Amino acid sequence: MAKLVIVGSVALDTVKTPFGHVKDALGGAATYSSYAASFFSKPGIVGVVGPDFPKQHLELLQKRGINTEGVAVDKSGKTFRWEGYYEYDMNEAKTVSTELGVFASFKPQLPQSYRDAEYVFLANIDPELQLDVLRQVKKPRLVLLDTMNYWISNKKRQLLDVVKRVDVVLLNDAEARQLFETPNLVKAAASALKLGPKFVIIKKGEHGALLFGDGSHFSAPSYPLETIRDPTGCGDSFAGALIGYLAGKNTSDEKELRKAIIYGSVVASFNAEDFSLERLKRLAAADIEKRYKEFERIREF
Ligand code: AMP
Repeated sequence: MAKLVIVGSVALDTVKTPFGHVKDALGGAATYSSYAASFFSKPGIVGVVGPDFPKQHLELLQKRGINTEGVAVDKSGKTFRWEGYYEYDMNEAKTVSTELGVFASFKPQLPQSYRDAEYVFLANIDPELQLDVLRQVKKPRLVLLDTMNYWISNKKRQLLDVVKRVDVVLLNDAEARQLFETPNLVKAAASALKLGPKFVIIKKGEHGALLFGDGSHFSAPSYPLETIRDPTGCGDSFAGALIGYLAGKNTSDEKELRKAIIYGSVVASFNAEDFSLERLKRLAAADIEKRYKEFERIREF
């Protein structure tokens, strides 16, 4: 049984930053988030790839204990591809192209062993597919939702429908302003909470994250990273580590959610140190704990 299920893109990314570039490297929201989650629990992923997707990428995930039974191979098309670049402001990815490929006709089919999932992460993907997945899980204890500007611009109504059905919504600051049509993040969070979720987390790139609940607020610090080579996948690593931690601890209460946000920030900060999943591949549990302790020191006053 997969206690934690993650649905999202499994992709080949072409990325350029001021510090280097990669072509058709392993990426995708489900990939980054499941890898990050695997430091805390054993997720199952749902997604689709084409026959062009290198076998060793799936093997890499399986070696981390990630269940890939829910990754379909669709022979009729190509793997989802995203091409983007960053300028010196590494907080903002500029999209050059998005080729949906096999995702354009994807209908997620959850394996039986995923349907009892207690924790579900709807990573960045078409909101209609996110809804489809929600219909297939029986009684999840906590559903976390992520998205991006692409879906806010193209499928806002469907996205707001998903927001109404989840427990925690994750947005970055620009997405929160765009989705709720206000420059004020506190107002955006209040609008999101009115739709039903218990918590809203607003990520502020390298400047930390804010948690809003019913009458509660928490501000997570950022980590002063010296080496940032490629921030692609930081949002997904943050979310994956966060929900992986909660699933590992079997909890959804606010106290643990605050710690989960710090674990998310820790894993995301490591991810930015190298391209694709290269830094996460070299990451050990002890590195995570060490940086978690540094976070504790940063916020002491
Ligand atoms: P982030 O964590 O926000 O940096 O997400 C980066 C990942 O999102 C990349 O690895 C891309 O493959 C993936 N991605 C980019 N655009 C989309 C999209 N429209 N739908 C789903 N995934 C996407």
